[in-house]
Amino acid sequence: MLQGQGAVRVLIVPALFAVVSCTTLGRINLLTTEDEVAIGRQAAREVEQQLSLYDDPVVAAYVDSLGQALVRHSRQSDIRYYFKVVDTNVVNAFALPGGWLYIHRGLIAAVENESELAGVVGHEIGHVVGRHGARHITKTFGLQVLLELAVGEKPSTARQIAGQFAEVGAGLTLLRYGREAEREADRFAVEETYAAGINPEGTATFFEKLMAMHASEPKGVEVWFSTHPPSRERIADVRAHIRKLPPKPGLKADSKRFREVKARILERQASGDKDRRPRGRRRR
Ligand SMILES: [Zn+2]
Repeated sequence: MLQGQGAVRVLIVPALFAVVSCTTLGRINLLTTEDEVAIGRQAAREVEQQLSLYDDPVVAAYVDSLGQALVRHSRQSDIRYYFKVVDTNVVNAFALPGGWLYIHRGLIAAVENESELAGVVGHEIGHVVGRHGARHITKTFGLQVLLELAVGEKPSTARQIAGQFAEVGAGLTLLRYGREAEREADRFAVEETYAAGINPEGTATFFEKLMAMHASEPKGVEVWFSTHPPSRERIADVRAHIRKLPPKPGLKADSKRFREVKARILERQASGDKDRRPRGRRRR
């Protein structure tokens, strides 16, 4: 899926596998926060050349304020997060390493209330907090870095890795982090929404909705299913995590602002503003 991987694999020498297995690398993160931010910034630049952002400042301001409220209650609030709305009706959201998050217009139109949207945004923040992108990069590029060190070439730096990522480009938007990372991001979503005063149940109800949508019309949620596949197991895991939280009165499920934003999007869709498909997302 990631275009750079083929070239990296060619460089892998069997002897190196004996020392460092992929399983081990999956848990290691060789990158610093600064590296992640540098890579994320470059990837964001690349990604934003490939897709259209939704040009409604009211929607953008709302998504940013919801995102920042969740970030304040996240386990990593010492970096700057950027929340952007992508102009496509495909139901999806994704995060780049270092704090760049993209929420599709189609997702906002599909969620029932603010708590469901907050669950998804919290999940994407969870991928940043859990450093899942960075771990993926380490897994992808770690062996190459080690090989360069082993053969005495100058050590790879984040800048060089970022350069390779630029070639990978929009493939990053379709990253699969794996089951454990998805579950960890779900747990962070529950924590962040609850701490921000939003009902964490939205994470579970939206997954249920996605599964129902997938059963009736798989095409609209295809990307979601290939990148963060929801499952009964994930829903049960989310609910089990919610049950462990102490009761908290006043958790809100919805807001007037959310309803206004969703209405704006639906109205514009209904008035025939055609969906502009993101250009070249699956670049070859
Ligand atoms: Zn995910």
